[in-house]
Amino acid sequence: MAFEGLTEKLNATFKKLRGKGRLSENDVREAMREVRLALLEADVGYKVVKEFVASVTERAVGSDVLDSLTPAQQVIKIVNEELTKLMGGGTAKIAMANSGPTVVMMVGLQGAGKTTTTAKLAGLMRRQLGKRPLLAACDVYRPAAIEQLKVVGGQLDLPVFEQGQGDPVQIAENAIRHARDHGNDMVFLDTAGRLHVDEALMDELKRMKAAVRPNEILLVVDAMTGQDAVNAASAFDEALGIDGVVLTKLDGDARGGAALSIRASTGKPIKFVGTGEKLDMIEPFHPDRMASRILGMGDMLSFIEKAQQTYDEKQAAKLEEKLRKNRLTLQDYYEQLQQLRNMGDLSQIAGMMPGALGRQMAGATIDDKALAHTEAIILSMTPLERENPQILNASRKKRIAAGCGLEVVDVNRLLKQFDMMQQITKQMTRGRLSKMGGGGMG
Ligand code: GDP
Repeated sequence: MAFEGLTEKLNATFKKLRGKGRLSENDVREAMREVRLALLEADVGYKVVKEFVASVTERAVGSDVLDSLTPAQQVIKIVNEELTKLMGGGTAKIAMANSGPTVVMMVGLQGAGKTTTTAKLAGLMRRQLGKRPLLAACDVYRPAAIEQLKVVGGQLDLPVFEQGQGDPVQIAENAIRHARDHGNDMVFLDTAGRLHVDEALMDELKRMKAAVRPNEILLVVDAMTGQDAVNAASAFDEALGIDGVVLTKLDGDARGGAALSIRASTGKPIKFVGTGEKLDMIEPFHPDRMASRILGMGDMLSFIEKAQQTYDEKQAAKLEEKLRKNRLTLQDYYEQLQQLRNMGDLSQIAGMMPGALGRQMAGATIDDKALAHTEAIILSMTPLERENPQILNASRKKRIAAGCGLEVVDVNRLLKQFDMMQQITKQMTRGRLSKMGGGGMG
């Protein structure tokens, strides 16, 4: 699959960042140097990379990121957002005609996958939108091209309009008329391809555009060709004007640069991607999902967002203050557990927790039942006990255990856990505390 190399390198970079806990501006800049190299190696255009890294860096070295509880996660989130933006932000659709059939002109260089994609896209429109598309064979120079369109159309049970050799512009016009007469609400024009962008090809396409006034001109480019695909997009857009791009062969081992460069280089969105040879292997292009895929983190990103919403910074600051004064109480512990619970799947959360706490917790298995016990025990304590765990003598422990239907050993286990948690949290906040001038914590 495309992007493998890029994903691997970005992950290595982010792993280093996450391992650090606190981040300095230098850490971020170092990471961005690695991101820059990774993107260049993925065949993303130099200028695109330069601008991308500049905007991520500008956002990431701000104090609201570096001083947050989860700086590495914030940096990753920024990279994700900027990647999404780079690829166009939202999902682009085909502009449909208000009346009469929607005419889509499919253009591209030979071998890019134009004929296959024409059929795939028509099939997708029928599947997703209930359209009744007609395919039109307007590549009259290669008899094999007409035959090929008939074959793929036949496989999808889509009607194909063809007139053999002839004037492609007239064939296009006839096809549209045919569609109107036969209740087809979309017409896909499979136009001629060449090995290179040349004037004769562009002239013909321009003539066709002027004659049929398509609702949409889609350029099909092959992801495997990297920067050549980007150059083709620029050339077609300048000569003909395109509305969007279909990027094929994303299932191959393309380095992915085209997906990341096309929008920034041409201003035109990628609207669909081809993901395999089979005729149903085409998908609308979602920049946000693609960014997550490139970062190799699918659901993780939505999780980071959730964690940020749940992990209240103000409350965290209060906690730090208490820690600094060695005043962490069982009440705080209880609230921490509640916060964790609110985040959902605990085992998933563990690895996402900032710094030392996360690393400690990632190794441990957290079990919901044990958590429920812990909460029950704390709830059985008086507020005074929660604030002053040191007063818990044998008789108090016995009363608490009875109150929540557990044993004294369970109470003791909790107190031990609490002690451990204090140690870990101290470690976790040590860096931040010394910055605040409250160093000297063990
Ligand atoms: P055209 O010359 O631009 O019309 O290209 P074709 O439609 O003939 O496609 C060229 C080759 O690319 C064919 O073998 C297709 O099966 C293949 N192809 C097209 N799209 C994809 C894709 O998304 N993934 C893969 N793996 N192959 C594709």
